[in-house]
Amino acid sequence: MEMTRLGKTGLMVSRVSMGCIPIQRISTEAAVTLLRQAYDLGVNFYDTAHVYTDSEAKIGLAFSHGIRQNVIIATKALCTTYERTMEQLEESLRRLKTDYIDIYQWHNPEVISADFPNEHGPYQAMQDAQKAGKIRFIGITNHHVARAKFAMESGAFSTLQFPFSLLSTKEELDLSFLCLDHDMGVIGMKGMCGGLLEDGRLPFLFLNQYPHIVPIWGVEKLSELSQFINLLHNPEPFTPEMQTEVEKLRAEHGDEFCRACGYCLPCPAEIPIPFSMRALTIIKRGAMMGDQFTPNRVAEMQRIDHCIECRDCVSRCPYHLDVPRLLKVQQAGYMKLYHNRQ
Ligand code: SF4
Ligand code: SF4
Repeated sequence: MEMTRLGKTGLMVSRVSMGCIPIQRISTEAAVTLLRQAYDLGVNFYDTAHVYTDSEAKIGLAFSHGIRQNVIIATKALCTTYERTMEQLEESLRRLKTDYIDIYQWHNPEVISADFPNEHGPYQAMQDAQKAGKIRFIGITNHHVARAKFAMESGAFSTLQFPFSLLSTKEELDLSFLCLDHDMGVIGMKGMCGGLLEDGRLPFLFLNQYPHIVPIWGVEKLSELSQFINLLHNPEPFTPEMQTEVEKLRAEHGDEFCRACGYCLPCPAEIPIPFSMRALTIIKRGAMMGDQFTPNRVAEMQRIDHCIECRDCVSRCPYHLDVPRLLKVQQAGYMKLYHNRQ
């Protein structure tokens, strides 16, 4: 397996690494089997988070017996206080069945105050945990270019995790090079554009042009992981035809593309925004997601009528999407398709 140096951490991580959101969707037995198969294939870097339900526990079960020291585990704390960060850390250690975490990341903070290293908050908790030997390196994850830049320039973090994919803008891709200047490790999330794409070939070959970015591929089947590993072992050049395909996808999804990150939630009208914002794309992409016209799905799309235009979702969306307007566009297209089926 080809390895990449993860910035100033000095950690050498596999070019194909794993994001462990999808293992929440499979049984414990299947997840443990998949994680061990990944390990046997040379994958040594696994990213999870305290909020990913049973993902940490599944990793703990897979790697606790004699393997722990051979793998690099990153997890995240979604906290705003010192005390809560410490609590989440202890819980993550228990679930992961380990006494240290390689990279502990501040999980997508919505606010990073100007003087955060000197405040009694999440960052100081991480520093204290690092002094106590419970954390090796401190990282941060984010979806905002400006906030990520601020974090990077603070010099307080060893890694940045950010969405990098073929739909990334130039400004976003430039951010990855700025990380290089600061010797920060660059961890790429959402390489499959938040589930928008199904086949890994184009997303992989696009990101393979940026060897300093370590993509963490979210997989739930060995076949998905094997595709990335085969592409790594049998590299193909990124051709002008592939670039044309990327441009087509960018034109199709433009600036109004929902990444399904869920940061806009909760919605007071209980609209499942990440799903509803992509209703038409999911239908267009085919049968992968099952029947999109069940009574339940139709009722969910009809809930858009209950939007009270509070715009809380807009202020939370890292991509500044005009969610209420886009939801109505999705609803109109969806209902048209639904009625045409009747
Ligand atoms: S503006 Fe509408 S969709 Fe957005 S949070 Fe408010 S009620 Fe929900
Ligand atoms: S609307 Fe924005 S915050 Fe909500 S899921 Fe989509 S991209 Fe994420």
